[in-house]
Amino acid sequence: MRWFIFHKGNILLTTDNQIPAGENCPLQLQPACSPQPLPDFEGEKTCAIELPPDVSPQDVSLQAIPLRNSFYLLSEPAYRLAGKARELLYWDSTTRFCSVCGAPMERHTDISKRCTACGREVWPSISVAIIVLIRRAASSGRKEDEQALLVHARNFAGNYYGLIAGFLETGESLEECLQREVMEETGLRVKNVSYKASQPWPFPAVLMVGFFADYDEGELRLQEEELAYGGWFTRKELPLLPGRMSLARQLIERWLSEEGNPDSTPT
Ligand SMILES: [Zn+2]
Repeated sequence: MRWFIFHKGNILLTTDNQIPAGENCPLQLQPACSPQPLPDFEGEKTCAIELPPDVSPQDVSLQAIPLRNSFYLLSEPAYRLAGKARELLYWDSTTRFCSVCGAPMERHTDISKRCTACGREVWPSISVAIIVLIRRAASSGRKEDEQALLVHARNFAGNYYGLIAGFLETGESLEECLQREVMEETGLRVKNVSYKASQPWPFPAVLMVGFFADYDEGELRLQEEELAYGGWFTRKELPLLPGRMSLARQLIERWLSEEGNPDSTPT
């Protein structure tokens, strides 16, 4: 059995940066901890456990690592499963009672619960957010002078520059969400929107959907409540970038690798 154990936003790893393994949980479990089943990992059964915040995991053979930082320590499949574990534990902790009648919910299947009184069923849900790299062609027409819009949001933990992003609202398509967020946060219109990649973002349960778009019109005017600073950067004058784990960084890397590729010239 592999044990994905969480405590106050940290994942507990062995001192050699592995997911703890063993027949029994490596920690004395509190009665409140109910293991959450997960898909098998490397041929072994797995489960996820959230320790109550007021207990301190007294096991010196384990280290508490912020889930984000575990990206740099775990294999990609282990990190991805840790993210899924975190999302399921979050769902479990926020659906203890029925939101319609208030009665306790009970486990129905591995990924569903049912109300013990009115029978309402719930499944884990995720929020959807778009993230977009906006390119602006140079007046010289040279690909190497093309710029990307990079911004520092006030909620970033660090002074790096990322991309415009925002949550999908009810009744919106992804394309409408993108145009709205770009307009709200920058005052710009964009064109040639193209999907590039997506990424589960388990903080606490988000799917990030990544796009490229080209500047169309408007004067850059950053929304002050959300964005502290930002601007247009060529590939040769990039500021501090987000960590490799983020979709923002992956989109920026993709843009960097576009230089000199005639197929990707904005139209
Ligand atoms: Zn109910």
